[in-house]
Amino acid sequence: MKTACQTLNWSGNIFSVWGINEMKKVFIYKNDVLRTLEIAETLVNKLSASGIDITDDTDEADLILCVGGDGTLLNLMQNHEFPTVPVAGINTGHLGFFQEIAPDKIDVFIKTFLSGELNVQPYNIAKADIIFKDGSEIAFRALNEFVIKGHGTHPVHLNISINESFIERFSGDGIIVSTPAGSTAYNYSLGGALVDPRLNLLQVAPMAPMNNTAYRSLTSSILLPANDSLIIEPCDEQSADLAILFDGQDKYFSDINSIELCLSRRKINLVRFGGTTFWDKVKTKFL
Ligand code: NAP
Repeated sequence: MKTACQTLNWSGNIFSVWGINEMKKVFIYKNDVLRTLEIAETLVNKLSASGIDITDDTDEADLILCVGGDGTLLNLMQNHEFPTVPVAGINTGHLGFFQEIAPDKIDVFIKTFLSGELNVQPYNIAKADIIFKDGSEIAFRALNEFVIKGHGTHPVHLNISINESFIERFSGDGIIVSTPAGSTAYNYSLGGALVDPRLNLLQVAPMAPMNNTAYRSLTSSILLPANDSLIIEPCDEQSADLAILFDGQDKYFSDINSIELCLSRRKINLVRFGGTTFWDKVKTKFL
C-alpha cells in the first residue's frame, strides 16, 4: 500500500513535491452526471495517450483523480476510507473548494503530473466515536463535518465537555462540528467562521441554541485545538436518540451514552492546481 509519505517529499507543512516514479498509476472516481461521464472519458483517453495506467485499486495508485463537484470528493473519501494518496479534483460541479482543475486544463495537469511537480496540501479530517449504553462503539470519519441533532422536531439536551471539563448543557436543534475544510459548507450557513485549511482545529457551532431564563446555551461557535476532544452526553432518554449526519450522509442511532469528537491523526492530501488560494475561493464564492 502506498502512503503519502512514500510518494511525497514533504516541504514545510503546506506544500509538498511529488517524487518522480518510473510508472504512474491513477485511480479515477466520478459521479454519474452526464457531463462528468463525458469529461471522464476524455480523461481516460488522454491518460492512456500519455502512458499513464488506470488502476481500480486505490492502494496501488500514485494519484486519485476525482471527477465531479465537492460532493463527489466527499463521497470518494467516505467510500474509500480517506486514502492518503494525493487526490486531484477535476471540477464538473459548481465552484469547487476541493475540486480545482477545470476540465479544459486536463492536458496541462497531465504534463505537470508527469513532470513530478504537483503541489499537495494536507487536510484535516474529523473522527467521531459513538458509545452506546450497552458499551458497544462505532466510529466514523468526516472531511467536512459531523452534525448531531434530534430525530424529529423536539430540541435536544446535551451535556458538552471539552476533554474532562464540563462546559455547558446545550439545548436546541443540535451541534455541528466542522473541520477547517468544512467551514465553508454547512458551518458557514449556520453562522460559523470561515477557517483557513492550514489551521489544525475543530469548530463547534450551535444549531438554533435556546437561550432564555429556562435554558442557557452558548450562542457562538467555539474553536478547539488539534489534541482536544469534545464529549457530548445526552441529558435525557429522548436526547439519547440522535441523528448523526456526516459529509452529506445521515444515520440514526438510539441509546447513545456519549459521542467523542476530535481531529483524526490521519490527513488527506489534496493536489493544489491553478494558483488560487483559499481566500481567493472565498471571495469568488461568497462575495
Ligand atoms: P448536496 O446537497 O448535493 O450539496 C451541498 C452543497 O455544498 C454543494 O453545492 C457542494 O458543492 C457544497 N459543498 C460541499 N462541501 C463543501 C465545502 N467544503 N465548502 C463549500 N461548499 C461545499 O450535498 P453534497 O454535495 O453531498 O454535500 C454534502 C455537504 O452539504 C455537507 O457536508 C454539508 O456541509 C452541506 N450541507 C449544507 C447545508 C446548508 O448549507 N444549509 C445543509 C446540509 C448539508 P458542489 O456543488 O461542488 O458539490
